[in-house]
Amino acid sequence: DLEERLSNIEQERKTYPETKYLTYKDKKRILVTGGAGFVGSHLVDALMMRGHEVTVVDNFFTGRKRNIVHWIGHENFELLHHDIVNPLYIEVDEIYHLASPASPPHYMFNPVKTLKTNTLGTINILGLAKRVRARVLFASTSEVYGDPEEHPQSEDYWGHVNPIGPRACYDEGKRVAETLCYSYMKQDNIDVRVARIFNTYGPRMHMNDGRVVSNFILQSLQNEALTIYGSGEQTRSFQYVSDLVDGLMALMRSNYTLPVNLGNPEEHTINEFAHIIKKIIGQCSITNHSAVWSGYVVPMLDGLNWTIAYFRDELQHAKRKENF
Ligand code: NAD
Ligand code: UDP
Repeated sequence: DLEERLSNIEQERKTYPETKYLTYKDKKRILVTGGAGFVGSHLVDALMMRGHEVTVVDNFFTGRKRNIVHWIGHENFELLHHDIVNPLYIEVDEIYHLASPASPPHYMFNPVKTLKTNTLGTINILGLAKRVRARVLFASTSEVYGDPEEHPQSEDYWGHVNPIGPRACYDEGKRVAETLCYSYMKQDNIDVRVARIFNTYGPRMHMNDGRVVSNFILQSLQNEALTIYGSGEQTRSFQYVSDLVDGLMALMRSNYTLPVNLGNPEEHTINEFAHIIKKIIGQCSITNHSAVWSGYVVPMLDGLNWTIAYFRDELQHAKRKENF
């Protein structure tokens, strides 16, 4: 009978990660565009756990349901399969605008679409913000500096970008998107925040990201030689994804409206990276995901350990699918 069926449903109810209870006054309705992607899904986790209502809008070009599946059905969570190149009509208080392919193989796959997403898509999101008077944080990139003549780049450096080069669809798309943000701010008094994000790594990053961290981890896990280009003495910095998420939320809360660089200032040589990754994977390290949520800057060894565990799972998952 009905009562028995309802009690079965109750028992089978999914368990969700723990979320804080917020009263009506503190609870915000937050839109995350690109929320099924690498960075977006970690941001969604943080916002959900703080007790907010989160709506994810994603066209699943590079995003995956797997990244957010643990929230589907939760009363504070909503997922909309939608392409931001088309207008969107919803009611929200805050918008984190992350939708855009981010790694070179993805954004070069369809350069015109990358441009449409960053221009038309950003106009749609700013238009939405204007209608509902929401604050918008735009996820820009260090790539707005192009091939910089200044190191490190401060926010007042204007960049050195080739408008017709192979990366132009992304670099110029993001530059126009920043211009759009400040034009809407001047003209319509829209409250904007602009984060210029530098290299980020962590679980849920793409297998074919093509950058040095994922390349080295995948090569090492598959017992292949690590491909060090050149002398390996060139340096890079990488921030762990939870540090970026903390930075994005802090910027959203702040009153600072000019662009802000978000990255890890600690540089390592490519040789160092290769060495460290070989050492960790050689030792078959043990992992512990819980500390990801601490408020401190994540030490590189922890970050690499968690990322390696993720890539190991992904490889096993891919293998199981192959054998199936
Ligand atoms: P990602 O590719 O994992 O996530 C992007 C998400 O946007 C995906 O879920 C994708 O499906 C979605 N998307 C793309 N086009 C869309 C469209 N037209 N409509 C709706 N959804 C769309 O990339 P990521 O690394 O999570 O990057 C997130 C944001 O941060 C991007 O804007 C990126 O430019 C920026 N960023 C990331 C890095 C980094 O190192 N990861 C560095 C600088 C800037
Ligand atoms: N690199 C490398 N082996 C790889 C990938 C990259 O030695 O398999 C080097 C590359 O030459 C560059 C640095 O690592 O000096 C970072 O490259 P990446 O592609 O990660 O990003 P970039 O910062 O150059 O866009």
